[in-house]
Amino acid sequence: GKMVIATVKGDVHDIGKNIVGVVLQCNNYEVIDLGVMVPADKILATARERQVDIVGLSGLITPSLEEMSQVAAEMERTGFALPLLIGGATTSKAHTAVKIEPRYQRAPTVYVPDASRAVGVVSQLLNPETRDAYWTEIRTEYEEVRTRTANRRPRPALPYADAVARGLQLDWQNYRPPVPRRPGVQVLRDYPLEALVDTIDWTPFFITWNLVGKYPAIFDDALVGEQARQLYDDARRMLDKLIAERRLRASGVLGLWPANRVGSDDIAVYDSEEREREIARLHHLRQQTVPSAESDPLLSLADFIAPAATGIADYIGAFAVTAGLGADEIAAEYQAQGDDYNAILVKALADRLAEAFAEHLHLRVRREFWGYSPEEALDNADLIRERYRGIRPAPGYPACPDHTEKCALFGLLEAERHTGIRLTENWAMLPAASVSGWYFSHPQARYFNVGKLQRDQVEDLAERKSMAVKDLERELASVLGYTPPTGGRPDKRSATDPA
Ligand code: SAH
Repeated sequence: GKMVIATVKGDVHDIGKNIVGVVLQCNNYEVIDLGVMVPADKILATARERQVDIVGLSGLITPSLEEMSQVAAEMERTGFALPLLIGGATTSKAHTAVKIEPRYQRAPTVYVPDASRAVGVVSQLLNPETRDAYWTEIRTEYEEVRTRTANRRPRPALPYADAVARGLQLDWQNYRPPVPRRPGVQVLRDYPLEALVDTIDWTPFFITWNLVGKYPAIFDDALVGEQARQLYDDARRMLDKLIAERRLRASGVLGLWPANRVGSDDIAVYDSEEREREIARLHHLRQQTVPSAESDPLLSLADFIAPAATGIADYIGAFAVTAGLGADEIAAEYQAQGDDYNAILVKALADRLAEAFAEHLHLRVRREFWGYSPEEALDNADLIRERYRGIRPAPGYPACPDHTEKCALFGLLEAERHTGIRLTENWAMLPAASVSGWYFSHPQARYFNVGKLQRDQVEDLAERKSMAVKDLERELASVLGYTPPTGGRPDKRSATDPA
């Protein structure tokens, strides 16, 4: 069998897709891997020219969901009859059943949760003796998923103004925000990788390779323990090599500025303590879905910053770090030698080092740069559990799902100039092994999920961001709690989107 695979929208290291490719190749399938950020027409043109038997799509960031359903629709429209595989971190069986499969009726669309299932699914789809029965089974299953989703009553939403009125009210009169010890921007160029090794969180590393279990207990697991140990030993050897050769590089930048909340959900960032000149206006989103407990507030990250009207001097921080400078070149060399294993290992380690850098820098911010927890002494397990004061929410994540805010973040930090991290047109970061976010210091600041947004909030936000409502709706497609009346394709089910 021959298969074309690609990652749509999103240029994050798609290790899952790489592993699917390797696993299939090991089982004698021919795999054409088009890489990441591949436009739909290129995927379909390749499928046609190379006469493949299967198309595989992977997606790692939220915009890829919409893109995958459009590829499915395009396959239907242009008369394809090849099976379509769906995978990647942002996808799910529910999403495939509700959003993708209904758009493509001529051949099976199957969600593949991880690489280990790929061979089984592909062989059933390509074997003429099993194909039809398997298709019927999948279709029935997805139909059931759709019925269940449609029957689930959407939780009621509040008008935006009411949600604002039910925001978190912190006691500002009895609180003094900590003043940063080192305000402004600090650049950490060519940061030593060896300083990051101790803050690596290894558990996600094993998940990347489909080995499920918590580090270090995973080494004692009866099923995967031995394999995990071997992989870990390889990874440590590779880490030593990467550190010694100095070809993989890390760079970071952080900034701490005076800031106040303005209006309901915006944060003004000022150049200096006078708070007269605004250097950025950040726009946040507020929960609108009625919570299960009547007394629960409806949160926005802006709630954690003192409102300008209180006259209280508050602050916000931002950071962008990468440990992926040089990673693609090193991986490409392994690939050229036919060594996929080490190519994937390098990328996976660069990802781990980038997360470790974010953790390490956050620690230094609390202890020195902002300095509000100078005595903090937590071990790595407690750092991973985030048992410290303050948060570092990342744009695109549940508390701040609007990826376009990375624009303000990168502007404030001059992140591209200082670190070499670039934002793509889909708001993904290059190199892929990069992490960015905001720093909030309030002891009550916490992560939450904004959930679904109603049109009144999106209209208000569009006004604040000086964007057209329909452009903003496109950017926020995955968190809309309603069907946009214009632009895009009408989709009756978005109000009950399982994702
Ligand atoms: N130890 C993990 C750290 C990454 S996940 C690793 O090495 O992979 C945790 C990070 O994701 C947080 O620090 C924060 O930056 C982001 N995050 C998690 N939940 C979030 C939410 N609800 N909103 C915004 N950002 C969130």
